Amino acid sequence: MADSSLARVRWAKRLAWGLLWAAVPLALVLFRVSETLQLPLFFLMIPYGFVCLSCALYFALVPCPRCGRRFFTGTWGLNPFASKCQNCALSIHEDRR
Ligand SMILES: [Zn+2]
Repeated sequence: MADSSLARVRWAKRLAWGLLWAAVPLALVLFRVSETLQLPLFFLMIPYGFVCLSCALYFALVPCPRCGRRFFTGTWGLNPFASKCQNCALSIHEDRR
């Protein structure tokens, strides 16, 4: 198992949680920028929504390096708090032991 595979899973989790925590400050910044540039907020929300959707999809679909199935998605759906693979129980920190 390559070390970079679990690092990629950790990165996907950090990215998704980071975007979630940054959503409100980013929305405020976009609102301010739209006021300054006299641009409708709608035009700034399109790329922002695209980035958020892409990151959410990447998070949901990132594969487990051991079983090859989706790391955060199991029988019960997507688990954003998971620190183990939802299919084979591989720890997200297995390569650090
Ligand atoms: Zn797995």
